[in-house]
Amino acid sequence: MIAAGAIALSSLSVVAHANRLRAFTPADIPNDVSVPPTDPVVGVGRDREEEQDMSEKSPKVTDPVCGMTVDPAKAAASIEHAGRTYYFCSKHCAATFAAKPESFASAAVS
Ligand SMILES: [Zn+2]
Repeated sequence: MIAAGAIALSSLSVVAHANRLRAFTPADIPNDVSVPPTDPVVGVGRDREEEQDMSEKSPKVTDPVCGMTVDPAKAAASIEHAGRTYYFCSKHCAATFAAKPESFASAAVS
């Protein structure tokens, strides 16, 4: 009988809490529910179009010094090293490469 009374009391207090929560905080629940939905689908289509446009216009190469993508036709500088031509976004990167080409060339290959 004691245990049953305790259960009855605790369930009474749960109901009381639930009633209080309902009265006090209707706004907390929608925050959790409304986080996930819809954004990602829109971005993917755009990215794909941009990539196709760029690859049709001209092949890009990577500046081995700074890692920037460079258009060979518009590169600020180019250097031939070990039978391969490297393109650079700036004279500064070209000079850096020229000072120590083997370190950048090996990095670009791998
Ligand atoms: Zn660069």
